[in-house]
Amino acid sequence: MQESPKSIYIKTFGCQMNVYDSDRMSGLLAHQGYALEKDIRKADVVLINTCSIRDKSEHKVLSLLGELKALKKTNPGKVLGITGCVGQRMGRTLLQKAPHLDIVMGPDAIDRVGNLVGTVLKKGERVLDVQFDADRKRTYSQPSIVYRAKPVEFLTIMKGCDHFCTYCIVPFTRGREKSRPIAEVIHDVKKFVAQGTKEITFLGQNINTYGKGTPENLSQLVEEADRVEGLERIRYITSHPRDLGEDLIAQFGSISKLCPSLHLPFQAGSDSVLKAMSRLYTRDEYLYKIERLRHYCPDISLSTDVIVGFPGETDKDFEETLKVLSQVEFGGAYLFKYSPRPGTRAFAYGEEVPEPVKEQRLLQAQRLVHEILDRQNKQMIGKTTQVLVEALDKKAKNYTGRNPHGKLVHVFNAGEACVGKTIVVEITEATGSNLRGYYVDAPRTQRQIQALSPSSFL
Ligand code: SF4
Repeated sequence: MQESPKSIYIKTFGCQMNVYDSDRMSGLLAHQGYALEKDIRKADVVLINTCSIRDKSEHKVLSLLGELKALKKTNPGKVLGITGCVGQRMGRTLLQKAPHLDIVMGPDAIDRVGNLVGTVLKKGERVLDVQFDADRKRTYSQPSIVYRAKPVEFLTIMKGCDHFCTYCIVPFTRGREKSRPIAEVIHDVKKFVAQGTKEITFLGQNINTYGKGTPENLSQLVEEADRVEGLERIRYITSHPRDLGEDLIAQFGSISKLCPSLHLPFQAGSDSVLKAMSRLYTRDEYLYKIERLRHYCPDISLSTDVIVGFPGETDKDFEETLKVLSQVEFGGAYLFKYSPRPGTRAFAYGEEVPEPVKEQRLLQAQRLVHEILDRQNKQMIGKTTQVLVEALDKKAKNYTGRNPHGKLVHVFNAGEACVGKTIVVEITEATGSNLRGYYVDAPRTQRQIQALSPSSFL
């Protein structure tokens, strides 16, 4: 009798990079005959793809271990695995701590996921794979990508980071920078476009140094992607202020498909905190990059990351952070309280800012960001903007998408037929987090719309 195919369930925590890694694991396992299962209770293999960027995200994973234990008790044959950054960071400790786990593996072991699952199923052995890949130029194995029919896609083009910001766990969980060749990335872009994708966001922890150690670089990739017929929009994330060179900045004024939006984390406004973080730039150097970006692309929408309560951060230091937030007027900001991560240099700094002070600084920064966003968004009322419609928001019961500046737009009168199309929307309502409006015209290309209404965009 033929054995029925094994089913697999993957739960993903954390960033887009993890979403992409989960897709790769699904793709590789599907290629080996595994069927995807949406119900964790029914799956033969359960993989939890984890994030360890903050203490809180790691705790979430650790508390899930209890639920996994109950699943194993009901079904001892179920294969349970922890993948991703918590797997990498805790490795053998995790395997010892949780005897019900069969697999612990890090992000660099993704290409080997099929073998690891196979070893558990065939030999009944528990496996650990937290080896970093030593070959800096190695590409991902194929077929590891699921080419879905989605208007907006994220594509990892490199992994790891060569910076060691003193608070960050990434270099310890994802290793050193390693880039995929342009030809391979463009191959994937074309495959996605053939499925109906219109917008691609290239992903990398330190994307501006894409191609380091090879003759290729990010500006060349952007130029090549710009030539892909059918692709309408290009974005990339995450940039590092030190590595964002003039060549990349200038492209915001010359590459038509490169969206006028950029995420550029500044983390702190005080030079002494930036130094303690080992961010390798000063506040003035950061502000100079903003000036250059606005020189080439005056309406660029900028977003950022900020950490409040870094060890040793004084009230005066924090004031400097608020000043940068006010001065730049970001179109979005991710604000976090400093979270000590074992193994990082900052973990040993001491001088912890008391929790209530961190909390109060976070609230103050959030209020400021919200005020700025609210003001920016309200200025859009009565104007039109182009929206690439992505999907139905089931809760709000209307279709949503983003404009070129990356703003989320709810479109009251769009239907299923609009999904995957760029439509013109008149904004009638705005909140600090999104814009809302009506689809006012038939879909046109970006250029036609700009010709009609050159000053109507944010
Ligand atoms: S550049 Fe980013 S990913 Fe790299 S160490 Fe610093 S914060 Fe972490």
